[in-house]
Amino acid sequence: MGNFSGMIGSKVVLDAALEHGTPFYLYDEQAIAGNCRRLLAMPNAYGLTVRYAMKANSNRSILKIISRQGLKIDASSMNEARRAAAAGIPYKDIILTTQEVPCDGEMLSLQEMIKSGLKYNVCSLRQLFNIGDFAAANKVALAIRIHPGVGSGESASRNTGDNYSCFGIHLYDLDKALGFAKEKGIVFDHVHIHIGSGGDPIAWRDNIDLELNIIERHFPDALTASFGGGLKVARMPDEEAADIEGLGRYAKERLEGFFQKTNRRLEMEVEPGNYVVALAGFIVTRVIDKKKTGGDGLNFLVLDGGMELNTRPLLYAARHPFYVVSKSGDLLYSDFDDAGGHSAGSYTAVPVGKCCETGDSQSLDSAGLNLPRKMAEPEVGDFFVIGGAGAYCSSMSPMNYNSHVQAAEVLYSPGGLQVIRRRQSLEQLMANEA
Ligand SMILES: *Cc1c(COP(=O)(O)O)cnc(C)c1O
Repeated sequence: MGNFSGMIGSKVVLDAALEHGTPFYLYDEQAIAGNCRRLLAMPNAYGLTVRYAMKANSNRSILKIISRQGLKIDASSMNEARRAAAAGIPYKDIILTTQEVPCDGEMLSLQEMIKSGLKYNVCSLRQLFNIGDFAAANKVALAIRIHPGVGSGESASRNTGDNYSCFGIHLYDLDKALGFAKEKGIVFDHVHIHIGSGGDPIAWRDNIDLELNIIERHFPDALTASFGGGLKVARMPDEEAADIEGLGRYAKERLEGFFQKTNRRLEMEVEPGNYVVALAGFIVTRVIDKKKTGGDGLNFLVLDGGMELNTRPLLYAARHPFYVVSKSGDLLYSDFDDAGGHSAGSYTAVPVGKCCETGDSQSLDSAGLNLPRKMAEPEVGDFFVIGGAGAYCSSMSPMNYNSHVQAAEVLYSPGGLQVIRRRQSLEQLMANEA
């Protein structure tokens, strides 16, 4: 009783809050490791590499847990690649898939990383042209990210594959890229399409077919087909997670079909972020105030952390599960346990943060309006916990707005609680100001 999911429950929340003060992120090591093992067990035809898209959560301790399980890394920037290296992950286990166009010193630094084994996934013609001479001279095979012109995402704004987004080399430019590569003698041994985050499994399967067609037609040297991330997780009770076994079986069948047709065995790669960490993280806050906007208005719960810890509701109207835990550590309400004796009654409220910003809410509809949620009524001083917060919360935070300091990150493992990032101090917040 009292567990939210995995090892984390109201008792751990209370212990961690008493020791470290709120607000903070709380991660479950065993849940992360379990997700890694499930991914590595995906069916595949000729080998599988699972890369963790580290932009989801870039904390060094989290990276270490994941790499110990045998996952490699997808980095979205050169600094992410450097952070992975600082966590002890060798460059040969990192692919760089970035919007950056490094020049001068950064270009030299990229070349050093590539010499150390980093795989460079070119995402634009300019990136390809800039690395061309180096790749040709050093005989380094490149990866290429294709923009397929179609995509999928939990919301339109998270679809990275359609014509309203700009990630990868669009099919429209493929001939130019291939022509340049041919002229220079550059080989693409790795083809990559990532169509979007939290996407729909049908689109994910369609993408496999699309990508294999592109590889068959244009990439005679490809050894690896990367199908990207976007394996959906179910944050809310009414959501359905991707069936990664089923997707793996589908990919296996298609890769075997590809082999029969072409006599080429392609290794498969996936690069999930959400799937690895999203459900293994929580944000622990305290209710610091309660307000009501008139007789037929809304109830508001003011929490001691909001958009600066989780900006996803504001960015995509994302929904996260809520838990109410009393001051003494009793679980009063869980979105997953409505009928389980935790009295929800008829109380509804909007949990908001302490920023002076209307969008600082943990429950917004797609028009950006506050959406009350059913729960048990907490008292001021009770804990309010936001689930599904392991991915794209800490790493994506507008953290110093209103001069609130970056929150601590705490890891729960069977050995106990451990701070894996200290709370920022006000001095640190101001440190670089003149
Ligand atoms: C963000 C991203 C991912 C991870 O997406 P998830 O939805 O977190 O699985 C994978 N690959 C690339 C290139 C990305 O940009």
